[in-house]
Amino acid sequence: MKSKYTGGCKCGNITYVVNGEVQWKVSCHCNWCQTTSGAAFRTFVLFNESDLEISGDTFKSYEDRKTEHGRPMINQFCSRCGTQLGIKVPSMDTRHIALGTLDQRKEIAVKDNIWWQESFDFVSFPNNSDVYKTGYWNGTGERILKS
Ligand SMILES: [Zn+2]
Ligand SMILES: [Zn+2]
Repeated sequence: MKSKYTGGCKCGNITYVVNGEVQWKVSCHCNWCQTTSGAAFRTFVLFNESDLEISGDTFKSYEDRKTEHGRPMINQFCSRCGTQLGIKVPSMDTRHIALGTLDQRKEIAVKDNIWWQESFDFVSFPNNSDVYKTGYWNGTGERILKS
């Protein structure tokens, strides 16, 4: 039986159901995530696009084609309450759902971290974390700390 996750934005305008397994979980400490969220880092749970069912309003999208790290990114949020629901990376067939929008968020442990080199000095990493100096997916990810 497939796992089922649910979630949505703060105002309830957008809800989603995920009928499938988590593909990856990661906190991203890059400059782009800091700016687009206004926070120190963003934590995402990746699901296959085909497992995601969105109800209510659609995700409002802002496509950034000229990102610092050369990878187009689409920031996705609720147009009514501004909740950051996640991002879509056009070259990937998964969707990055923002951890904080999942109803099951407290049950999901995240130990991978990317873009350590752009992280804030006040952010510390638990001993069992995996921390990568830059991105992970492009094959250049250099692991700097490991459990
Ligand atoms: Zn909303
Ligand atoms: Zn990032």
